[in-house]
Amino acid sequence: IAKAHGRNTWRLYAPEMNASAYDDMLLAVDLRQAIDVGELELHLQPQFTLAQGQPVGMEALLRWTHRTRGPVSPARFIPIAESSGMIAEIGNWVLREAARIWSRWRSEGLVPLPIAVNLSAVQFQAPDFLHEVGRVLSEFDLPAGALEMELTEGTLMANTDAAVETLHQLVGKGIQIAIDDFGTGYSSLSYLRRFPVSKLKIDRSFVLDLGKHGNEGAEAIASAVIAMAKSLQLRVIAEGVETAEQRDFLKDHGCDEVQGYLYARPMSVEAATALLAQRARSAQPQGDMA
Ligand code: C2E
Ligand code: MG
Ligand code: MG
Ligand code: MG
Repeated sequence: IAKAHGRNTWRLYAPEMNASAYDDMLLAVDLRQAIDVGELELHLQPQFTLAQGQPVGMEALLRWTHRTRGPVSPARFIPIAESSGMIAEIGNWVLREAARIWSRWRSEGLVPLPIAVNLSAVQFQAPDFLHEVGRVLSEFDLPAGALEMELTEGTLMANTDAAVETLHQLVGKGIQIAIDDFGTGYSSLSYLRRFPVSKLKIDRSFVLDLGKHGNEGAEAIASAVIAMAKSLQLRVIAEGVETAEQRDFLKDHGCDEVQGYLYARPMSVEAATALLAQRARSAQPQGDMA
């Protein structure tokens, strides 16, 4: 009886215990078709200068609207794409889509802002990555400065010599490099000096606690990152800025740029295009209002 019971229990619990792995598998199957059926989309979140509040760039963020589940977060499906060998294809799609958006802005007579795309480590290390980047740049005839790429410290530290070489190739193609989620990894000053990066992005986890009492740790990290960026002559941007207190702290400590819900949420390409058009209209009659 015990055995039968045990077997019964096993049969009942096995799907339960593996529910999350099983669900990952279902998502992987659907993700494989998501590009073809048009369920993937890029949204854009503007980035602003802290001093003037001028938009200076847009970060491309992947959105997946699953036909039955609705929106699935990239925090959930990017790791699945990585482990199931689909990240290169998805990453290439993102790259091409960002290039398409930028060239559409240009052809509509707007002044395009640089678009920053996020790179996964697997995509960055893929043997044909640079080839693909070159192909996209020439297909859309993008000038230097049109695209930026965001990589995490973990991606850069995985194989530093190869990473340095790949970064130089990207910079040679006119692509600016930003280190994403900065402060959460293990990069040292000496490594940073070797990488041809132009921007550090202070991770949202530190920004969250700025200007609150009893959170001097986050403030120490944020001000150290800003100081480090200054000494290396890099631009520094804070991600996830939601409150006036956070903004004020960043302003007082000399942060260059900001991105976050206080300024703008990630928006559809249409909304981002409207923002550029509005900016062009308001800049023309009165001149530079900054
Ligand atoms: P990330 O690159 O660090 O992107 C910033 C995340 O913070 C985005 O989440 C953005 O929507 C969110 N965010 C921005 N401002 C605020 C704010 O003020 N408050 C809060 N609470 N959140 C804010 P999202 O879009 O869910 O993306 C999560 C992560 O997924 C990204 O983190 C990035 O690592 C990854 N990801 C997104 N798109 C891509 C992609 O095209 N390729 C790759 N490889 N990864 C991507
Ligand atoms: Mg990013
Ligand atoms: Mg980030
Ligand atoms: Mg992040």
